[in-house]
Amino acid sequence: MSDIERVKCLIIGSGPAGYTAAIYAARANMNPVLYQGMQPGGQLTTTNEVENFPGYPDGVTGPEMMMQLQAQAQRFGADIRDGWATKVDFSEDVKKVWINDSIEIHADTVIISTGATAKYLGLPSEQHYLSLGGGVSACAVCDGFFYRNQEVVIVGAGDSACEEAHYLSQLCKKVTMLVRSEKFRASRIMEDRVRNTANIEILLDTVTEEILGDGNVVTGVRVKNNKTGELTDIPATGFFVAIGHKPNTDIFKGFLDMDETGYLITKGKTSKTNIAGVFACGDVQDKDYRQAITAAGSGCIAALDAERYLASK
Ligand SMILES: Cc1cc2nc3c(=O)[nH]c(=O)nc-3n(C[C@H](O)[C@H](O)[C@H](O)COP(=O)(O)OP(=O)(O)OC[C@H]3O[C@@H](n4cnc5c(N)ncnc54)[C@H](O)[C@@H]3O)c2cc1C
Repeated sequence: MSDIERVKCLIIGSGPAGYTAAIYAARANMNPVLYQGMQPGGQLTTTNEVENFPGYPDGVTGPEMMMQLQAQAQRFGADIRDGWATKVDFSEDVKKVWINDSIEIHADTVIISTGATAKYLGLPSEQHYLSLGGGVSACAVCDGFFYRNQEVVIVGAGDSACEEAHYLSQLCKKVTMLVRSEKFRASRIMEDRVRNTANIEILLDTVTEEILGDGNVVTGVRVKNNKTGELTDIPATGFFVAIGHKPNTDIFKGFLDMDETGYLITKGKTSKTNIAGVFACGDVQDKDYRQAITAAGSGCIAALDAERYLASK
């Protein structure tokens, strides 16, 4: 038999969005309970250098920043717990969420901040340098600055890939863009933007064979032409993967409105979903910006929306 607990505000996810929501909800006397999920602290715990979050003039490591956010939420009484939301039922006024398939929580409000996971190619060499922080990244805005005046390679063919390639072209000496097929998936306007940028070289019909390096950092990328089979080594210090993200929303299917890729849809400038009392913030509902500061900002909005919802009842 499962335990049932009643809470005013349940927050699912412990990235910048979830912790910011917890800070605001705790200070509004909503006694938030936050479940951290499989990745306590969220995506930033996988990066060593965060240089663009306001308030840290010398930069900060991702794990340290997230520990500080957690401590700040706990200081105001947020109840931060280990656990993973495995099932929800939002069909009634009281929202039901199951944690680890065993604990049943009944919540007046639910704030979803489960993030989105970057997709990678899955090559062992890619994962090796990714895990070392040695030159593989899925975020040009986050990491492009570290490759100023250097040569980088980016893989991807959609709008985001074009946007990231263009962003990198303004920082880097040269950007080589690998497109798997003979044409882009991006809109014409985005394709034209990269095609018209002098320091972006586009290689169509080209796939990544291996990330080359000295064991610690990336030194190049071996690519293969799909049509000819020819292998080429491209010198590069950075390898950017821009093949999409998977929002962590599977358990909400059937209850919450999502776009075709699974991002939660929120109403206008608010964090409101299609279900009253259920709010979404951070990367799980934002495929455009995907930054810690924007996630934190939307976490604030979600807590304020939840507080107003409770007040109106
Ligand atoms: C390597 C890397 C470097 C980055 N560098 C920067 C940077 O320098 N600056 C910057 O601004 N941004 C950076 N970003 C982007 C930034 O990390 C994200 O925009 C931000 O973390 C999004 O915050 P979030 O709270 O929405 O979600 P996330 O940080 O993705 O957190 C999601 C949380 O939800 C939890 N979760 C998921 N599913 C469940 C579930 N079913 N039950 C319970 N919990 C669940 C996870 O455990 C996690 O705690 C970087 C991202 C990566 C991957």
